[in-house]
Amino acid sequence: MQTVILKAPLSGVIYPLEEVPDPVFAQKMVGDGLSVDPTDNRLYAPLDGTISQVHSALHAVTLTHDSGLEIMMHIGLDTVMLKSKGFEAHVHEGQQVKMGDLLITFDMDYIATHAKSLLTQIILTNGEVVDSIDKSEGVVIANESTLMRVTLKKSFSCESNMAPEETILSEVVIVSNTTGLHARPAAVLAALSKKFESKILLLKGDSSANAKSVVSIMGLDVGYGDKVQLSTTGSDAKEAIAEILPQLQSGLGDEGTKPILAQAAIETSKDQEAVPAPRSDDPTLLLGIPASPGIAVGSAVRIKEETFEFEEEAEDSYKEKRRLDKAIEESKNQLEALIESMHKQENASKAAIFAAHRELLDDPELIEIARSAIDKGKSAEAGWHYAYTSVAEQLAALNNKLLAERANDLRDVGKRVMRILTGKESETLELPDHAILIAEEITPSFTATIDTEKVEGFCSTTGGATSHVAIIARSLDIPAIVGIEVRALDIPDNTALILDGSKGTLKIDPSDDLIVQTREKQRRLREEKERNLATAMDPAVTTDGAEIEVVANIGGVKEAVESVKLGGEGVGLLRSEFLFLDRMTAPDEEEQYEVYRDILEALEGRPLLVRTLDVGGDKPLPYLPLPAEENPFLGQRGIRIGLERPELFRVQARAILRAGTHDKIRIMFPMISTIEEIREVKTMLEQERKELGADPIETGIMVEVPSTALLAEKFAREVDFFSIGTNDLTQYTLAMDRGHPKLAAKLDALDPAVLRLISFTADGAHHQGKWIGICGGLASDPLAIPVLLGLGIDELSVSVPTIPEIKAEVRKYSTKECKAIAQEVLKCATSTEVRTLLERKRAK
Ligand code: PEP
Ligand code: MG
Repeated sequence: MQTVILKAPLSGVIYPLEEVPDPVFAQKMVGDGLSVDPTDNRLYAPLDGTISQVHSALHAVTLTHDSGLEIMMHIGLDTVMLKSKGFEAHVHEGQQVKMGDLLITFDMDYIATHAKSLLTQIILTNGEVVDSIDKSEGVVIANESTLMRVTLKKSFSCESNMAPEETILSEVVIVSNTTGLHARPAAVLAALSKKFESKILLLKGDSSANAKSVVSIMGLDVGYGDKVQLSTTGSDAKEAIAEILPQLQSGLGDEGTKPILAQAAIETSKDQEAVPAPRSDDPTLLLGIPASPGIAVGSAVRIKEETFEFEEEAEDSYKEKRRLDKAIEESKNQLEALIESMHKQENASKAAIFAAHRELLDDPELIEIARSAIDKGKSAEAGWHYAYTSVAEQLAALNNKLLAERANDLRDVGKRVMRILTGKESETLELPDHAILIAEEITPSFTATIDTEKVEGFCSTTGGATSHVAIIARSLDIPAIVGIEVRALDIPDNTALILDGSKGTLKIDPSDDLIVQTREKQRRLREEKERNLATAMDPAVTTDGAEIEVVANIGGVKEAVESVKLGGEGVGLLRSEFLFLDRMTAPDEEEQYEVYRDILEALEGRPLLVRTLDVGGDKPLPYLPLPAEENPFLGQRGIRIGLERPELFRVQARAILRAGTHDKIRIMFPMISTIEEIREVKTMLEQERKELGADPIETGIMVEVPSTALLAEKFAREVDFFSIGTNDLTQYTLAMDRGHPKLAAKLDALDPAVLRLISFTADGAHHQGKWIGICGGLASDPLAIPVLLGLGIDELSVSVPTIPEIKAEVRKYSTKECKAIAQEVLKCATSTEVRTLLERKRAK
């Protein structure tokens, strides 16, 4: 066996790779090796060999030894973002080097202040040739100290297992990683590819790379927007494409991904079939998609499409391109100012929308289209107008709801640039009181400029329930309808209207009687809301004295604070996954402990129920690469991830146990479907508890799966409480995906089948003397309250804004009435029957 000695390529202190704060290196996805915290700014060759790759960002270099051993040296963490600033390469690809030759010099101060870390990784990227590694420790001196002794395998052939079979070519993927396929996504791709026997190539133009080799992938120099394809040959070629392709499309878990507007839209047009918008036969009633709840009575104000006048042609394309660049820059500044002011007003959702607009202005496709039109003799205005309108039209025409909604944002930001180019003032609209705005599109920028005090409601002929205008309307608490019938655009100004944002209806010219009745209803709703708020701090007690705990569903500290203000009696569901999302590494024990402590403090002695991490399936984490699944809701999600990755579970369990030392904390596990699962997870919890010497805590499960509801009595022997997750229980009972664009609307937790399972679960819990709560969306529906109480639910965990209303609802009934109502609805055949019956009871 051959042993290869690697000298230290730079001076510094050795760090074990496992401790590097970057999961790709720490989890050895690139390969095994060591990290060095450098004390000098020069990187030398650790042995003789050939430079097989110098990354275009100059922060990484790969050397191949004669034996075939590949060594990648990666200076710093997240240094690809520096785009070569602070680095100087002294070698080029293909160059032969001797041990001790200078490879790269780097500016330590610049990197230390502009990147995540200076830690430099020395990685053996083709681990398949390595038999063992003897790693040094402590301080090393460049070119003098030995860093690693690597013993190579006797014989190695990377092709040995490959069956010479048919080659399969995947569809084309446009790379959405903003910094291309640099070390991190390349490592994820290589790790994924290595799971398969087949030979897997990543193709870009005429070049190709071995997708199992990080170095080879990086050598392909795949940038943002490049088109790549996978080619697989071997026994599992098809499976490899099925698993790797979706990951490649979604950015390989990389934080910096940004869909490329025009082309990405075309490539993905197959998914997300649009749901046809509703249409009415009544000439005085228009239907649309409910976007923001509430009723508005007012008069029509038609918002006209903004137009611009400009010269089509221009002589000096250089000057025109500069004008466009300046206008784009100025637009970005305007948007930055808007984002800041939205943050100051604590309007995070609006800030996020303008941040997305700012991103659009960096879209290379869009700018390229405008610049090439200018090169052909168009003026800056004409070039830009053509670019954003044509891309927006393309997006809008797609059978893809989400992308079509981006068209609105694109036109909005496009007009912002046009106003600057044409010097046109933004139109300020004089609105009458009680205005109901009608437009093809109501843009986020428009809503930022109007006097919202005068606006009673919005409706637009475009957009969907998740469009930005819907989000804005909800954040302004203004009733709104999107996707309304186009006839709405013909309604003359000042026509009387009644807009129902909860039902998605717009009544034209209502009778005076109807206006009076609606105003009366509005007044009643307002008064009821005020009354509920006034009694929010009182307990929720039925007319015969049974006290029901009304607690909150939260995702973090802010909502905990808000829940207390609205009379919440604690937290019945902390969706702890919010701590884990939108980041590149999992929060460690200390960080989690601090968040749980902060929430407990905000609750001032009220109980906190933490649900352990509920991700997987449709909710992936970038640092938890899970295979794409055909049926994600039936796959690795909830507690199944905790059992497969016990280290994630144990860290969280310790943080929860520690945080609960002085306060009331409870723990529950999501998606439990078998008795074995709860036993296994309880064993882990108990081991951690003993090790910490912590007190026992109340332990429960979410009942979200029919199997668990049906075996409720057995499960009740294993735990202290149940909390029913009706969102999942409904989807699993009715076998309808809760995120499905067509089926989601049909999912009703008041389906008698779901109610029977709830009844069964409650009985199972009570037979064993355990309490039962409900934390799914059904608990926040006032109509459902008497049924849930009648079925024996002890605790209602509801969305924060509904706390006062739900408490008020509990106070309306006696236990006896609730039981009678529950028995009646259990006999119904459909959810519509249940709803009709409950509405009738409520109206009494
Ligand atoms: C549920 O399924 O009802 C539930 C509360 O969990 P989530 O909505 O977070 O899946
Ligand atoms: Mg759930």
